Amino acid sequence: MTYNVTLIRGDGVGPELAEATRRVLEATGVKFNWDIQDAGVDIMEKEGTPLPPKVLDSIRKNKVAIKAPITTPIGTGFRSVNVAIRKELALYACLRPSKTLKGVRSKYDNINLVVVRENTEDLYAGIEFEEGKADTKKLINEIEKLSGKKISKDSGISIKPISRTATAKIVRFAFDYAVANKRKKVTAVTKANIMKYTDGLFYHVAREVAKDYDGKIEYEERLIDNMCMQLVQKPEIYDVMVLPNLYGDILSDLCAGLAGGLGIAPGANIGKDIAVFEAVHGSAPKYKGQNKVNPTALILSGVMMLRYLKEFAAADRLEKAVAKVIAEGKSVTYDLKPHRDDPTAVGTSQMADAIIAAL
Ligand code: NAD
Repeated sequence: MTYNVTLIRGDGVGPELAEATRRVLEATGVKFNWDIQDAGVDIMEKEGTPLPPKVLDSIRKNKVAIKAPITTPIGTGFRSVNVAIRKELALYACLRPSKTLKGVRSKYDNINLVVVRENTEDLYAGIEFEEGKADTKKLINEIEKLSGKKISKDSGISIKPISRTATAKIVRFAFDYAVANKRKKVTAVTKANIMKYTDGLFYHVAREVAKDYDGKIEYEERLIDNMCMQLVQKPEIYDVMVLPNLYGDILSDLCAGLAGGLGIAPGANIGKDIAVFEAVHGSAPKYKGQNKVNPTALILSGVMMLRYLKEFAAADRLEKAVAKVIAEGKSVTYDLKPHRDDPTAVGTSQMADAIIAAL
């Protein structure tokens, strides 16, 4: 069987990582018919949009995509293409496993955590009102009237919607993942003591869903600030965590850090019948075109894609090959060497070659 898969090259270090990942995935023997698409800052200059409609059309048609990172200018410019893809295609679940690999420098040797992040709403919904604009002033007046609370007139406003529907979907996804992957516990994480009507609703719905898994999967709740501290102190007591969008974003970087850094952290965005696989890290623009950064995170996202396609044997072989190359510590990128300026570090493409040789 040949799989039609959209390959989005991204920008910054994206194209180098996409090419390394494509070569490694092909070397597993699984057959792919790649539909190569471009999105991000480079295509913005040519086509006037960072996300040309043909990119989304291609993913809708193929149903599976692997995507290299894409830059989002901070505070100004276009909105995140990554967020747009997740929203446009209703990829409601973001799945980010963090696992310690032998050979990766980390303060911990026992990390095996999974972050399940809601992907479509919360402060990430992009509903924002700029400071000083007429609509913002109108909104501030209306909120003051309705809530009886004062808001400084020179405020910008970001809206945080959390719905019953989206929460039920993401919590069910987390429990189903836990069952399918023989995990023991799901922890729901929010700041419900402060945001009672959004994060409080998330807990309320999560408790209802958890009842359906009673006796199979344990359910517990933690506040996000306490969770950050506990993960640093005793990560081994946690398993699968389910969170609203923003906390999920932050906590998945924390978990990536516990396991040894962004260079090895894979991810998937999953909807009803479409999935887009991508690394947790961004486009690291300062390393663009240098054949320098670690391809592992995108390659392990490829392993998740192989499992999604039910190519389990190829996924296991590739995961083992990556682990072997990293454990040997010879043909690895700078971030996996004892010192970042180690002259024996290899480039992105050479690390991919070593993984192919280990397959
Ligand atoms: P980043 O993840 O791009 O890089 C932060 C630092 O982490 C890098 O400077 C580098 O030192 C290290 N790093 C990241 N990936 C690495 C790799 N593969 N190998 C070795 N080291 C690696 O984060 P940033 O600098 O905050 O963001 C850069 C851009 O990427 C921003 O525009 C941001 O919005 C975007 N971004 C995109 C995605 C995505 O495409 N899904 C995710 C996060 C950030």
